[in-house]
Amino acid sequence: MAAIHVRTDSTVTKPVFDDEHVALTPPMTPPRSEVALPAATRKSENVPENYVEHTLKSTKALPPITWNNFYREINWLSLAILTITPAVAIYGFCTTTLSLKTAIWSVVYYYITGLGITAGYHRLWAHRSYNASKPLEWFLALAGAGAVEGSIRWWSRGHRAHHRYTDTDLDPYSAHKGLLWSHVGWMVLLPRRKPGVADISDLSKNPIVAWQHRNYVVLLLAMGFVVPTLVAGLGWGDWKGGYFFAGAARLCFVHHSTFCVNSLAHWLGETPFDDKHTPRDHFVTALVTIGEGYHNFHHEFPSDYRNAIKWFQYDPTKWFIKACQLVGLATQLKTFPDNEIKKGQLTMELKKMREIQEKIVWPASSNDLPVISWESFQEQAKHRPLIVVAGFIHDVASFLDEHPGGRHLLGKNIGKDATVPFFGGVYDHSNAAHNLLAMMRVGVLRGGLELESEKAVPPSQKLKVIRAQEMYMTPESSGVEEDDH
Ligand SMILES: [Zn+2]
Ligand SMILES: [Zn+2]
Repeated sequence: MAAIHVRTDSTVTKPVFDDEHVALTPPMTPPRSEVALPAATRKSENVPENYVEHTLKSTKALPPITWNNFYREINWLSLAILTITPAVAIYGFCTTTLSLKTAIWSVVYYYITGLGITAGYHRLWAHRSYNASKPLEWFLALAGAGAVEGSIRWWSRGHRAHHRYTDTDLDPYSAHKGLLWSHVGWMVLLPRRKPGVADISDLSKNPIVAWQHRNYVVLLLAMGFVVPTLVAGLGWGDWKGGYFFAGAARLCFVHHSTFCVNSLAHWLGETPFDDKHTPRDHFVTALVTIGEGYHNFHHEFPSDYRNAIKWFQYDPTKWFIKACQLVGLATQLKTFPDNEIKKGQLTMELKKMREIQEKIVWPASSNDLPVISWESFQEQAKHRPLIVVAGFIHDVASFLDEHPGGRHLLGKNIGKDATVPFFGGVYDHSNAAHNLLAMMRVGVLRGGLELESEKAVPPSQKLKVIRAQEMYMTPESSGVEEDDH
């Protein structure tokens, strides 16, 4: 029922009932044909190379949602689920006493159903980041149904499109459309476009995934409301508490926990691995999403079973999968090579350093300075305090009185090559002194500059962040050959 809607505008003239639209509307009554027919696979095989650009140009988006048309663009089923559930929970809080046992059970069931999504829907089925044994698959398929977020098949199809077309209009919950849209807007309102194609042929072949898809409505009622109520009712006689707290209230928290991965995790935090797209890493997001908050890492290395790679980072989903491996329920846990992860981290660090580097004023290079003969240097040194160090001519006028060694030590080297005394003959100057001296460059001594000499490069310039295209650039000549004046 949810997957069928009739449009009367120019872009869609007949009832829409295809794989892509199913992917944006929770399949409360999934069409049987869909389970057996891997339509997305066939479409995926014919995807042109410039698919995103081609699709955005060749297909028209539905008109934007405005205050005048939004009531016609509502997905009423999703809206009902997302508003009635919290209303029931609030009614429960106002009318029912929360017992300690029910409170503990609600938290435990929050983690069970949450892990159904994070360890099951997300890391197992959408990303295949590990292999699960049959008992674990059954557990995750049932637990995930209790989170009431659509079937594994529907959820994974949308999520694969989200990864493949992140931040584009083919991403079903593109973060570029705003925090509210990526959190709930994309479910509550009808999509403006079909999400991009994504291959789910592997899921179509999985009997547990197919079974969960076929029986989804029964499963969501059973796992979402009946089981939490039964446990509290049969366990300690708290039927109402089980329904209101472990059922409805717990479900609201699980919902918004998952929704935060699409909204908060694309908005709050750092980008330590790549800043090309919106996904970000943040502890707070991890805390509210059972460890899915290290989303920058996740988008960069989606097949890795971990979201957080450091031991102190909060990722209970990773711990759960690891624990399953230890008891033999999970195998083939995938991790991205550490060497490749470090490349991403280093690139981002270098990028930050490059920004600092660009804000610093650097000394003139030999290409920017006039080349001066020894005779000319000596002649000019009679009128201004010029000193040669490591092939560069420096005007030390502004520094004569500042020189910590005294004016006379500097003064007696005017008109001379002071390379030896500067580098230890008299006093082995500090790196800071060398850096400062380089700022006083006014020329290059003809034949006096040994570029390969360590001493010609100030310490601050021995390591630099250089872009690939700059490495192959030939330095432009300053055009100045000699300055006799
Ligand atoms: Zn994401
Ligand atoms: Zn993902």
